[in-house]
Amino acid sequence: MADAVHDLGDSLSIGSAWLLNRLGKKSADSEFTYGYRRLSLFGALINSLVLIAGSIWVLSEAIPRLANPVMPVTEGMLALAILGVMVNGIAAYRLSKGYTLNEKILNWHLLEDVLGWLAVLIISIVLQFADWPILDPLLSVGFTLFILLNVIRNFWVTGKLFFQAVPDKALHKEIEHKLLAIDGVSDIHHQHLWSLDGEQHVLTAHIVADHEGVFGPDEYCAIKQSIAMALEQYPLAHTTIEIELTEEACRDQPVPSQTDQH
Ligand SMILES: [Zn+2]
Ligand SMILES: [Zn+2]
Repeated sequence: MADAVHDLGDSLSIGSAWLLNRLGKKSADSEFTYGYRRLSLFGALINSLVLIAGSIWVLSEAIPRLANPVMPVTEGMLALAILGVMVNGIAAYRLSKGYTLNEKILNWHLLEDVLGWLAVLIISIVLQFADWPILDPLLSVGFTLFILLNVIRNFWVTGKLFFQAVPDKALHKEIEHKLLAIDGVSDIHHQHLWSLDGEQHVLTAHIVADHEGVFGPDEYCAIKQSIAMALEQYPLAHTTIEIELTEEACRDQPVPSQTDQH
């Protein structure tokens, strides 16, 4: 029964991750103008929750067994465990190339399965020689805690991206410095950096052009060219830069200071 539930969870989780990843590659349309990349973030969130719930359930089963361990039936366990480690190991290895957040979560899920079978393998070997029934719940708890901690860490990262947190504070600062270093730029405010899916980011900012009296098409073009060069190296899917003149009032709500921008 437990295995059936676990397998169903696996299939749903892996299936939905695959589906959301595929749908996420759809290009933007007139309604979803940023495209569908956030679907993969959504998939990562759902899969983290499934994995966290599953791990807590495994712990709730295994922890009471620490107090009174039952000797498992080891007949045929060894052969089954070798098969389990091999099949799940190959699957995990083949899918481990992914680097999006969704794929990372999926990898933890597959690793959980491999570790589960590895635990069975170790137990079935050790129990041939020693009478240590506590090994079974002990390995379950250990491996599950390891998975749980990593999944919670991923869940936290994904959750923050979901609420448009700055994906990388150092990158945010670096972009600010790069833009401020441009000749003729005296200030930057309303700089917002958020991420579509952890890979591709969106940047908006207001920069103040200190033009010393003249600000014609030449100065405008020079600044725009410098901005393009400064931002070229970053993974920005959508960039919007507003150029303000020193005497111009900001259209958006005032921000306290350059270092205290929101
Ligand atoms: Zn703003
Ligand atoms: Zn402004």
